[in-house]
Amino acid sequence: MALRVVFAPLVVALVAAVGHAAPDETTITEVAPGVYFRKAQTEPVFTGCNQGFVVFRDYVLVIDANFPGQAENVIASIRERTDKPIRFVFDTHYHGDHADGNMQYVKLGATIVAQERSQPLFQTKGTDGFEGAKKSRAAEYGGLSYEIPSLYFSHKLVFDDGQQRVELVFFGHAHTAGDAVAWVPKHKILFTGDACVNGAFNYTGDSNTESWIAVLGAMEDLGVTTVCPGHGEAGGAEVIANQKRWFTELRARVREGIARGETVERVKESLEIPFYKEWTGQEARSRTENIEHVFKELSSPAKPLDEQRRFLRWQALPGAGGYAGLGPWEAIGQTDADTRHDALADLFLGGDSSRHMQLRHRFRDEGEALGEMACYVRRAAARIRTPEDTLHLRRALAVAAIEGGRGDTAAALERLELVRHAALRAGIEADPFFRAIQDHVPPENRPLFDTVRGRAPEALLATAERAGPPEWRADATGGIE
Ligand SMILES: [Zn+2]
Repeated sequence: MALRVVFAPLVVALVAAVGHAAPDETTITEVAPGVYFRKAQTEPVFTGCNQGFVVFRDYVLVIDANFPGQAENVIASIRERTDKPIRFVFDTHYHGDHADGNMQYVKLGATIVAQERSQPLFQTKGTDGFEGAKKSRAAEYGGLSYEIPSLYFSHKLVFDDGQQRVELVFFGHAHTAGDAVAWVPKHKILFTGDACVNGAFNYTGDSNTESWIAVLGAMEDLGVTTVCPGHGEAGGAEVIANQKRWFTELRARVREGIARGETVERVKESLEIPFYKEWTGQEARSRTENIEHVFKELSSPAKPLDEQRRFLRWQALPGAGGYAGLGPWEAIGQTDADTRHDALADLFLGGDSSRHMQLRHRFRDEGEALGEMACYVRRAAARIRTPEDTLHLRRALAVAAIEGGRGDTAAALERLELVRHAALRAGIEADPFFRAIQDHVPPENRPLFDTVRGRAPEALLATAERAGPPEWRADATGGIE
């Protein structure tokens, strides 16, 4: 593999350097003083992920570890530029081409950092992948042992020594549930990991493409001028726009195919997205893994993701920020309203949309159930931190709106009203409410939703006016799984 070193002290030269497509080369570009982008060769051999490293006054922060063998090359390249210690490595996510080389840096005394939702992924799929690679890539992995990150952050972690500033930021579920990006605000440079790639590199197996599009929107809102993607060439803000357009168009075309009653095979055969070929040089229909994943997302009812469940369980461990030592599923059965509402709000934002349905029978009437729902919907709304949180709250409301109907128009209508008023009491406007949730109604309930939408009688308005949390029926039993 050719290693071409590019020095680009001037902005003009920089744009030229990062815009130069050389898939058969590995290049290192100084994209800002002390901020380096290492673009990995992808053709004819895929060597690993793109990386970054940032030289601070006293230490070096590396963005993504790469495979173990590539990590050694990267360390050598860093050593050619600075003798400061490599103190931190940020894994943008758990995939092997980004994180399997962690131990090479730990050996040198570095601490590996990641977003906290990736912890259960490192512990399960990451470990399995590493063990598999030890067999299939024995020469490289040999006697190495897996190093899982030991420092986690929830939404933001800032490195700032007065000269350099790098912000690790979590925007929600994109390529994986625990993706985060590295933002260099002074120079408007964004290292995206695989939440954004430049070319036909997307793998969607761990993704949520709906949330991913929202995450890409949040990245655009940063005002990025240089995008250093997880794979492919660096570029400007258009790299994010292209990535977002791919998933937006793919979802639209697949949704149309499903509406026409097509099978996944038929959708794969007939898919036409000309823009994709302009962007990547490949036909959209050649991306079968992406198409199959999106087809599955759009044709099956929304359900909580396993890793999110695991994350919530882990988060709820005593001493790890739980609910008075209880897990969320125990906490929602508590008589203490604060504990109960905290747990329900977190389950909502964690993607678990249906728990409140199981609590309904504990209340004397719909008014009480409504009051309860309004309390935790309001609490969840106040906790929104990422675009993914917003999506989860909308989905929870959409599921709540229709689920109680069970195919019965009158019951569904009543339920929709109930949820709308709960949302109103939680500060979510009435009119945008329908628009906000319409895309999240489970496919099997869409006809019913469309039927009841717009009728909106005010019959339940009076019950919505009740103030405060309702009295909890401590004597009620059962109903919570
Ligand atoms: Zn990846």
